[in-house]
Amino acid sequence: MAEQRKRIAIMGSTGSIGTQALDVIRSQAELFEVEILTAQTNDELLVKQALEFMPNAIVIGDEKKYEVVKLALASTNIKVFTGEHALEEVADFDTYDIMLAAIVGFAGLKPTLKAISKGKMIALANKETLVVAGDIVMQLALENRAPIIPVDSEHSAIFQCLVGESRNAIEKIILTASGGPFLGKKPNFLVNVKRDHALQHPNWSMGAKITIDSATLMNKGLEMIEAKWLFNLQPHQIEVVVHPQSIVHSLVQFEDGSLKAQIGLPDMKLPIQYALGFPNRIKNDFPRFNFRKYPALNFEEPDYKTFRNLGLSIEALKAGGNMACTLNAANEIAVWAFLKNRIGFLDITAVVEKTMETISFIKKPTLEEYFETDGEARNFAASMMKL
Ligand code: NAD
Ligand code: MG
Repeated sequence: MAEQRKRIAIMGSTGSIGTQALDVIRSQAELFEVEILTAQTNDELLVKQALEFMPNAIVIGDEKKYEVVKLALASTNIKVFTGEHALEEVADFDTYDIMLAAIVGFAGLKPTLKAISKGKMIALANKETLVVAGDIVMQLALENRAPIIPVDSEHSAIFQCLVGESRNAIEKIILTASGGPFLGKKPNFLVNVKRDHALQHPNWSMGAKITIDSATLMNKGLEMIEAKWLFNLQPHQIEVVVHPQSIVHSLVQFEDGSLKAQIGLPDMKLPIQYALGFPNRIKNDFPRFNFRKYPALNFEEPDYKTFRNLGLSIEALKAGGNMACTLNAANEIAVWAFLKNRIGFLDITAVVEKTMETISFIKKPTLEEYFETDGEARNFAASMMKL
């Protein structure tokens, strides 16, 4: 008899990761079905997705859009939720097997915690969840036996390299970074960079926030912190190397000096499919890597002096406590302001740095204290930018 199809809850289904996950599910319909879809504002796309995939329930975050969504789905049995607690309400359902956490930013934390507390498998794209409260998230996952399978391409690469290596210690991991659109540029250039230029990523097409994070290299900093929690590493075991072609997705070095890497074309559908299908690899027709098209792969040291977000992230990584939560909150606000043309590109780093200096440090925060830190850091960063 055929195996039961896995029922997927996609949190953030209208985003870059969410829509690519639906592409995967559409082409693997005998393996997966959609149980829950959620979106913040894009009601039109959410309704379209709901009519195609016929989930049990959907969430539209923006309450003003609730009536139109409800009306558009009046002829179906799809339950429509909105309001502050809607994401946690649907995350509490028993009727799904895997949550794909693909909301952007701090907003993804609560529903993911709810799913973990129910012992659900998490396919984790929302790296901010681990940056903000990694200790609590991982502890809860351990207690509830909730597997966390990374979707972030670098972490998926490391996870794939670790399959079959459970008895072998990691000496270090090496996260690859494309370098973003401003690789090789200096502050005198970056000071004049505008939003539209920063939104042009050379290798990946992603949501606006992570695209800016890639341009400032904050994305790689967040990923270092994400890796610390996912793979239980010390700060000195996490290295970054710039690899402009984005073909080597990351590497693990074992104690005998052997390195394992996962390699492939830059296409998020692969790590998404791997996480949903884990532990099975699923046959697909994605484009294949061809060595003839890549005669050279390059690796270089990041420019820490220019891209100071990396240094700030390492500081947060080493400090522990609520420091990474502060860094993340300040960065979310600063990136938002940059996208609205309210501050310059280099101001993003300045805001993060000043907020990290200002918000009180807590060595072992409770979840409540993480929420407070997030709020305080946002308020401080916003006041600094006169938002
Ligand atoms: P996106 O902006 O394209 O999509 C975000 C999704 O979250 C949308 O569906 C949106 O409706 C929803 N959302 C936004 N704000 C929300 C809020 N306040 N409450 C509830 N829902 C909200 O983002 P993305 O590029 O798909 O990234 C999603 C996450 O995955 C991020 O954490 C990002 O760092 C991570 N990630 C993305 C990529 C990529 O290629 N896009 C790669 C690796 C990791
Ligand atoms: Mg990544």
